[in-house]
Amino acid sequence: MVLSVYVYGSGVLKKEAAPVVKDDSSLAQLISDMWDTLYNASGVGLAAPQVGRTIRLIVIDASAFKDDDPLADGFKRVLINPELLEFSKEKSTFNEGCLSIPGIHEDVVRPKRVRLRYFDEHFQPHDEWLDGIPARVVQHEYDHIEGILFTEHLAPIRRKIIRSKLQNIARGKGDADYRTKVV
Ligand SMILES: [Zn+2]
Repeated sequence: MVLSVYVYGSGVLKKEAAPVVKDDSSLAQLISDMWDTLYNASGVGLAAPQVGRTIRLIVIDASAFKDDDPLADGFKRVLINPELLEFSKEKSTFNEGCLSIPGIHEDVVRPKRVRLRYFDEHFQPHDEWLDGIPARVVQHEYDHIEGILFTEHLAPIRRKIIRSKLQNIARGKGDADYRTKVV
């Protein structure tokens, strides 16, 4: 089932999310709904707070970027209670967008590589180093479960330039071709 995407201005996007508990019987359905919502919106990543649930759950399918980065090809993950353990000193810049901030794309600087630990949908533990677009998408989605949006990484001057667009989104006047809400 496709869920509404909570957009900029929604309080749920500013909260630190709580750990997923293993015996949450609604988890499998939520993961299935998050995949539906992600693909319906042609996104590459979606964190639970973006569908109104403040838990540490993320779905990612970076395959759409495979022409830009071979590492993105087949990079599909469900991340439960992820942790970012290490970051490379080397940084990279990438033009990011967000399903919760429709119509805005800005360059964001982040560490190029990260070490990620997480549980998958079967609660199997994983520990891996990521590079390129997978590292980028994971860091963006991880921010969501910490209550951080990519616009917060921008220089003040860039934030000022997009401020009126952000205010429009918060007033429900965002331009998205998927169902959104502001709460
Ligand atoms: Zn986002």
